[in-house]
Amino acid sequence: MNKLNIRSTVKLNNGTQMPLLGFGTYQIPDGEITYNSVLHALNEGYRHIDTAKFYGNEVSVGKAIRDSGIPRKDIFVTTKLWPNDALNAEKALEISLKKLDIGYIDLYLIHWPLPGLVKKTWKRLEKIYKNSNQVKAIGISNHTVGQIKSILSIATVKPVVNQIKCSPYNFDPKMYEFCQKNGIIMEAWGPLTQGKRLGDDKLTTIAEKYGKSPAQILLRWCIQKNIVTIPKSTHQNRVAENADIFDFEISSADIGKLDNFSKNI
Ligand code: NAD
Repeated sequence: MNKLNIRSTVKLNNGTQMPLLGFGTYQIPDGEITYNSVLHALNEGYRHIDTAKFYGNEVSVGKAIRDSGIPRKDIFVTTKLWPNDALNAEKALEISLKKLDIGYIDLYLIHWPLPGLVKKTWKRLEKIYKNSNQVKAIGISNHTVGQIKSILSIATVKPVVNQIKCSPYNFDPKMYEFCQKNGIIMEAWGPLTQGKRLGDDKLTTIAEKYGKSPAQILLRWCIQKNIVTIPKSTHQNRVAENADIFDFEISSADIGKLDNFSKNI
């Protein structure tokens, strides 16, 4: 495996480069706390920020990015279309762009599929992608294999990623293989199990073996599987810890063990 670092990217199916490690912002309230957290993550070397209309913090995310002094082109920013806006995507995008105020969005995702409107919503996004120079890539989130197949059956632009709940405790090999086969990158939300499984014995045993924390093992597992990962923390020491995953490698035997964690819960 080539040596990975905090700036390592995956190439999306439209040629865009997306950093494998990003910073998640779900449930971080708008205002000073989001502003400081995003600024801190950028200072730590993260170059990928994940937000959404639903998180209500796009204004502070955008301000932190602008104030960071880092060239806009060096930061990858994702925001998302909320299902209520599915048939009003152009307007929703306009509002997100205005709140973020960073010129363009690197990746615009359909946050959740609306049953019955999966294909129609994708068509709206395709139109945006083709007509706007303010959206560099489009993708989906929380879509099942069946829903992705139905998108692919009508798509003229493929989704670049599917952002789903994913960790060794929620690993769906069928989704992983399907995405790989179809040139769609899998992106993990909740990569740290939202803090719930970090004390699990199976995980702490592996962490001790590598002299790393359970959180670092979960994130490194993603990176080695070419799964984009976007851990969240508002604690500066944890933001640094979550990025300190590039000085070791998990053996393929242990990756195999981690792959199977979800079978035993
Ligand atoms: P996560 O798995 O990243 O867990 C975050 C929690 O883990 C923190 O609140 C903290 O309690 C704990 N934590 C973080 N770093 C730690 C460390 N080093 N040691 C110990 N504990 C630590 O959960 P998440 O925030 O839900 O998911 C990550 C990101 O994914 C979100 O912030 C958001 O950007 C995105 N997301 C997307 C969707 C979607 O539907 N597309 C849903 C949820 C989250």
